[in-house]
Amino acid sequence: MGDNVYPGNVLLCRQLCISDLVLVKSKSSLSQQYLATVIEWTHRIGIRIDLVRTSGTSQRQKNRIELPQKTVELVRENSRRPWANSHHKQEKGFINDIEEISMDSQKSILIIGAGLGGIATAARLAYQGYEVTVLEKNAAPGGRCSQLIRDGHRFDTGPTLFLIPEVFEATYASLGERMEEHLDLRRIDPTYQFHFDDGRKLAITADLKAMQEQLEAIEPGSFDGLLRYMVEGHRHYSLAVEDLAGRNFNKLSEYLNPKNIGLLFKLKGLIKHYNNMGNYFQHPYLKAAFTFQDMYLGLSPFDAPSTYSLLQYTELVDGVWFPMGGMYCIVESLVSIAEANGAQFIFNTPVKRIAVDNGRAKGVILDDGSQINADVVVANADLPYVYRNLLPDKAPADRLDRMKYTCSAIMFYWGVDRVYPQLDTHNLFVARDYRASINRVFKDKSLPDEPNFYVHAPTRIDPSAAPQGSDTLMVLVPAGRLKEKTEQDWDLFRTQARSAVLERLSELGMADLVDQIKFEVSYSPRTYKRMYNLAKGAAFGSINHNLLQVGYLRPHNRHNRYRNLFFTGGSTHPGNGCHCSGNLSP
Ligand SMILES: Cc1cc2nc3c(=O)[nH]c(=O)nc-3n(C[C@H](O)[C@H](O)[C@H](O)COP(=O)(O)OP(=O)(O)OC[C@H]3O[C@@H](n4cnc5c(N)ncnc54)[C@H](O)[C@@H]3O)c2cc1C
Repeated sequence: MGDNVYPGNVLLCRQLCISDLVLVKSKSSLSQQYLATVIEWTHRIGIRIDLVRTSGTSQRQKNRIELPQKTVELVRENSRRPWANSHHKQEKGFINDIEEISMDSQKSILIIGAGLGGIATAARLAYQGYEVTVLEKNAAPGGRCSQLIRDGHRFDTGPTLFLIPEVFEATYASLGERMEEHLDLRRIDPTYQFHFDDGRKLAITADLKAMQEQLEAIEPGSFDGLLRYMVEGHRHYSLAVEDLAGRNFNKLSEYLNPKNIGLLFKLKGLIKHYNNMGNYFQHPYLKAAFTFQDMYLGLSPFDAPSTYSLLQYTELVDGVWFPMGGMYCIVESLVSIAEANGAQFIFNTPVKRIAVDNGRAKGVILDDGSQINADVVVANADLPYVYRNLLPDKAPADRLDRMKYTCSAIMFYWGVDRVYPQLDTHNLFVARDYRASINRVFKDKSLPDEPNFYVHAPTRIDPSAAPQGSDTLMVLVPAGRLKEKTEQDWDLFRTQARSAVLERLSELGMADLVDQIKFEVSYSPRTYKRMYNLAKGAAFGSINHNLLQVGYLRPHNRHNRYRNLFFTGGSTHPGNGCHCSGNLSP
């Protein structure tokens, strides 16, 4: 087993079964925290771990050593699931505030929007006995988490990565249900296949041996960098969930206090994520592969705080999952639970205004001028849009307008006449000049000449997504959001994005793809604005998640003036992502 020693005292032992990892404790001893975290997260991804003492003994003797008590405690400590811990704090969230209001015998609740945030809120409130009505402008529920079916091809139009299953588990549990009875989840491993400009690939996998071989081939010593990066990600994840994302803030003092200022440093809030990568990897491919995910929050990795290393951590450790039948199964199951508890969903019904009077929301006014009254109104429609278009006060709308917004995307949904084995379930294509490509999106709010992009091919995990012998491909090209003052030619950007994607895919031997596309549907930021009323067409928020726009500093879940008006969804606390909208903001 001595043939395989790598920097960082980590030995992958060939004699053990494939993914087992042996940590070798040597003279340059590993810190307790490092040991504890690596042990904990390798256990969670199903890898057995042995500690072997090498210092002063021959490796042949390889005496197992007892874990020091401090490390055992740290492992135990690390194994606490932060969302589970934070759950009791949710109880202080706005559902409790609604309960306070309902003590005054108020019972009816109107929800504007049937996105995941609106549906999950409806389900919870209906389960608690309220009379809930959901008004949705579109013909079906789901909002950004929608579904498109054509000629036997089934597309999830938005989310494709099911992350942090425990959050969904908590949502179903809060409705008296078990997630497993509603969702048939499969773990996607490798999570992604990265494609770099020189044709090299990197499959991000929980199989550490495979991971080690790939990383060391790109940059010797980088596997140790990954282990250390995961330790940091674990720390950020636990701290952020317990102390920021997983709780509600009712007062500024709860957020801005000495403890949380300390947290800012612990979470590397002031260090840019991409710059921080130099502590772990030197190769630009690896820096890109482990920062790319910031764009899911609509942030540039060159501006995002290092805090968001928690994303890569949770993807690798908690896994990326997929519900058989598609992400839309989440929407369908939560709607059916809400309806079973008495909630009513009304579609094709855009709300025109929220009726306010005397410091209270009275109900909503519809397009035809009719008014529906309610004791409580919950807005799931994008928060800046609600302030600007549905409420009378212009000053708060102007303030929201000055906040920072996420990027957007050009999307292609292709029904394809053949299957391309070159593609995995999730494929990420990294541009030659990663930084320049990202800057064009975030700084110029435009489309890069050579974009980074993502291709989702769901039939690799779920053959029911396409007719046999065909493929269902979804392509996401990150692009700028809508600019207020300058003209942008989105038709031109769309054509350019299409050509760039097809050209890059042709390098993979998919040159005939252009002729195999049976039909195409595409979205631009204008679609996001028109279809879902997302402010500035910013698809991943809309308000972004820089550290000045999270926690108490994010627009609140409860209106300051109309105290019976609440908000849920991507632009309020905690923010973007199915797990956020689907669970926590209530
Ligand atoms: C392309 C893309 C990919 C994504 N990928 C992932 C992923 O892989 N994993 C993940 O976790 N998250 C992902 N997300 C984010 C995720 O989709 C969102 O966080 C989540 O779906 C947002 O739900 P929501 O309820 O906050 O808002 P929305 O989905 O925007 O719902 C708001 C609803 O309000 C309705 N509405 C608006 N105005 C009115 C009105 N006046 N009257 C009535 N109804 C109105 C809208 O039609 C909409 O249905 C992705 C998003 C996009 C765009």
